[in-house]
Amino acid sequence: MKKTNYHIHTNYCDGKNSIEEMVQAAISRDFDNIGISSHAPLKYQNDWTMPENALPQYFNELERVIKKYQTQIKVYKGLEIDYYLASHDLSPLCKNYLKKLDYWIGSIHCLGVINDGEVAYIDDTKESLKRGIDQLYGGDSKKAVCQYYEGIGEMAESLHPDIIGHIDIIKKNNKESYFFDESAEWYQTAWHHALEKIKKAGSILEINTGGAFRYGMRCMYPSEAILKEAIQMHIPLTVNTDAHCPEAMDFLINESLRYLSQNGQDTVMVYNGKDWFSQKI
Ligand SMILES: [Zn+2]
Ligand SMILES: [Zn+2]
Repeated sequence: MKKTNYHIHTNYCDGKNSIEEMVQAAISRDFDNIGISSHAPLKYQNDWTMPENALPQYFNELERVIKKYQTQIKVYKGLEIDYYLASHDLSPLCKNYLKKLDYWIGSIHCLGVINDGEVAYIDDTKESLKRGIDQLYGGDSKKAVCQYYEGIGEMAESLHPDIIGHIDIIKKNNKESYFFDESAEWYQTAWHHALEKIKKAGSILEINTGGAFRYGMRCMYPSEAILKEAIQMHIPLTVNTDAHCPEAMDFLINESLRYLSQNGQDTVMVYNGKDWFSQKI
């Protein structure tokens, strides 16, 4: 079976290594089919996505590396692109580049803009998320979380990303149920609605091990309850590591594939340069 990973960051965004170093890291770990997916520019000033003027160079460098290593590994051109809850759309900065991509990952990292242009992030610090919930949702965590999953569903429905990024990253800062109870019925309803829309849109749901690599198993996305339901619903799946450094390249990939096999899922999605197709695990 092809060893794949379609969620890989580089030093064009907040990754630590160059495109070429990440491709070499994948080759040395026996991957044969990967995608590079740096964070696409945001319309807000920040230090973790690439700036808009780096995009042309990103594509040029990808082309160069793809060619250089073409006999050893298939490398595809991707981006992880933010969906904005407030505008119900992607950044206008990225739209012109969609057609240059082999695929894209749709993710939500921003809760919204709060006082004087500061962005409240979902997956940065607990304090940043709290400021967002307080100022944008009057302190109502449930409302914010429901809005997040509605956004995920909307993004799938209207834009059909190839891959939905870390579907339940909203739980990252919810250690010890600080913001909400993940076993509450409303929470399950919220993610379930998002899954229904993903299923209808035909997007792929990723198992994302990057949070677990950096913060421990509580940050494995999706949580087991969501993953089991996605398997039941026959939503297409793929295993990605959201790698920001070579050491994370294959973190928990084999374990995740084994988990899928043991839980009734015997295929994952693979890209061939034109289409996504399912391959046996
Ligand atoms: Zn992300
Ligand atoms: Zn990522």
